Amino acid sequence: MSVGDFVRKLIPTDLFGGMSVTGGYLFRRKETVQYPEKRLEPPQRFRGMFGYDLERCIDCHLCAKACPIDIIYITDHTEVEEIDGKKKKKKVIDRYDIDVKRCMFCGLCEEACPTEPKSIWLTTLSYEGSSYERNERLYYTKERLAGWDGLLAFPGVVLPRDGQNPAAPKTRVAATPPAGGAEGAA
Ligand code: SF4
Ligand code: SF4
Repeated sequence: MSVGDFVRKLIPTDLFGGMSVTGGYLFRRKETVQYPEKRLEPPQRFRGMFGYDLERCIDCHLCAKACPIDIIYITDHTEVEEIDGKKKKKKVIDRYDIDVKRCMFCGLCEEACPTEPKSIWLTTLSYEGSSYERNERLYYTKERLAGWDGLLAFPGVVLPRDGQNPAAPKTRVAATPPAGGAEGAA
């Protein structure tokens, strides 16, 4: 055994190396958050709970077709309404359900939605929907999607039924200007 090996065996240099790494963390900013008293805001592109806007939805079923595991269920019926003396067919959504417990949050449904802003979106910053019962509590009907029944919205986030803006969930979608612009509104 060489003298160097003997000294290395005598002095635990590896231990000092490890201690120096640990010691370095003592003086860094702490990343631990005292949840639930404090919450970190997820990044803008984070996919959380679904937002759904029944008024904007055009009942095209593209979201359901895009879902790779078929967990969006839509049923509708057609009604005939008379506008200016002309009869027009109108589709009415009876059921718009998402089986959220099976969702893998891939976002393909949102991508497929053709409306602007989107009628279904996941950029809601909200994710606190845990439950002791998953079959009913994590199955969201259009009514539960509107008001997020059973889910805690991230602080400051507007509920979908109050017009949450998919691009900035702490704000509302701007109202559509009346036909004819500012002059028409006057
Ligand atoms: S995010 Fe969920 S509901 Fe939407 S397409 Fe993916 S698996 Fe289906
Ligand atoms: S893709 Fe969008 S507009 Fe079409 S049914 Fe789904 S949510 Fe409605």
